[in-house]
Amino acid sequence: MNTRDKTIEIAFADEATAVAARESDQDAKLPNAIGSKKNLFDLDRVRLEDFFEQVLGEKRYRAHQVMKWIHHRYVTDFGEMTDLGKTLRAKLELHAEVRAPIVILDQASTDGTHKWLLGMDPKNAIEAVFIPDKGRGTLCVSSQVGCALNCQFCSTGTQGFNRNLTTAEIIGQVWVAARHLGNVPHQRRKLTNVVMMGMGEPLMNFDNVVRAMSIMRDDLGYGLANKRVTLSTAGMVPMIDRLGEESDVSLAVSLHAANDELRSELVPLNKKYPIEELMAACQRYVQRKPRSSITFEYTMMKGVNDQPQHARQLARLMRQFDNAVQMKDAAKVNLIPFNPFPGTRFERSTEEDIRAFQKLLLDARILTMVRRTRGGDIDAACGQLKGQVMDRTRRQADFRKKLQAQGATDAAA
Ligand code: SAH
Repeated sequence: MNTRDKTIEIAFADEATAVAARESDQDAKLPNAIGSKKNLFDLDRVRLEDFFEQVLGEKRYRAHQVMKWIHHRYVTDFGEMTDLGKTLRAKLELHAEVRAPIVILDQASTDGTHKWLLGMDPKNAIEAVFIPDKGRGTLCVSSQVGCALNCQFCSTGTQGFNRNLTTAEIIGQVWVAARHLGNVPHQRRKLTNVVMMGMGEPLMNFDNVVRAMSIMRDDLGYGLANKRVTLSTAGMVPMIDRLGEESDVSLAVSLHAANDELRSELVPLNKKYPIEELMAACQRYVQRKPRSSITFEYTMMKGVNDQPQHARQLARLMRQFDNAVQMKDAAKVNLIPFNPFPGTRFERSTEEDIRAFQKLLLDARILTMVRRTRGGDIDAACGQLKGQVMDRTRRQADFRKKLQAQGATDAAA
């Protein structure tokens, strides 16, 4: 069985898969059995300090010791937290737990990319991907089980949407990867960047995502600088403003087209927040902090959005943006060659068209990179993440029906 079949099989497997994995991995730590205990993965520094003070009646600084045990040393058993007194450890056992996502499947690509299928509850699993590259290691993190936005070229979109991930489930992905890598924050750092570009729309799960990102950036967490944590959005305009008020992370915006007609077709959210409103929000975001920039992602699909007129349109939009914020290179473009998945009607642009597109932008003095496809052999590339989604929207069933019909046609041909 090739890896694609395997992933699909797991994606559609009944809940027994997840239950079995959970039982074998965590024994008595089933969530129902300890439902009243607080999962400390859910708490950022301030909230954990509050928990120590208000629930345990302890000094706030004790929270710092526990954060280091969890995020620096990957210890989840209070019994092993040796610099805490016996009474405190007993109190923690009673009121708290440190419960990480369950690793259902762990796949390594020949290019060093690594993908985890993580069980969040018996019916839902998501994927996280680690991409090592010359001196940096980037983890691509999911924010939701499935996605509600239905972008036409994204595999997650075909899965439908079930629910938001909790803070614990988001930071848990970082924890699983960091532990696997033997990452030591501040010393032997293998995980240097996090991008919220996995499954889901992070700005539709605002509070949990912001809280998890605060743990990623905290010295007692993963110690990543603001610019090394990137949130990617399909363009939730009001939430871009809120993000600007509450956080300082890097922003990436999935544009894919520089005119409303095409963008609305590719990213239905554009009907609600068209390009002009989106660019205005991006402008406000950049103007909040001097010398910052926004990365505009542009997935390149053959014959759809990859022709010279599209590049010229995009160059104009990017130039307008630089002018509006009065800053050179405030807009950066990231060209992503489309990654196919079963049942999609799109194809990847040719290498030649991608280069020509990039040259047109570079000639217009727009900073433009082409993102290399990584982890293709394990379906870990952008837009290929599926996980296992108990869909509540029927979109998955419709897509599977379409796939089956297509299979029947192929067989007949
Ligand atoms: N919802 C967020 C984050 C998830 S998508 C967003 O839209 O930004 C992360 C990136 O992968 C986005 O830029 C998205 O457009 C891109 N992407 C999605 N499907 C893709 C595919 N099949 N091939 C290449 N890139 C894809």
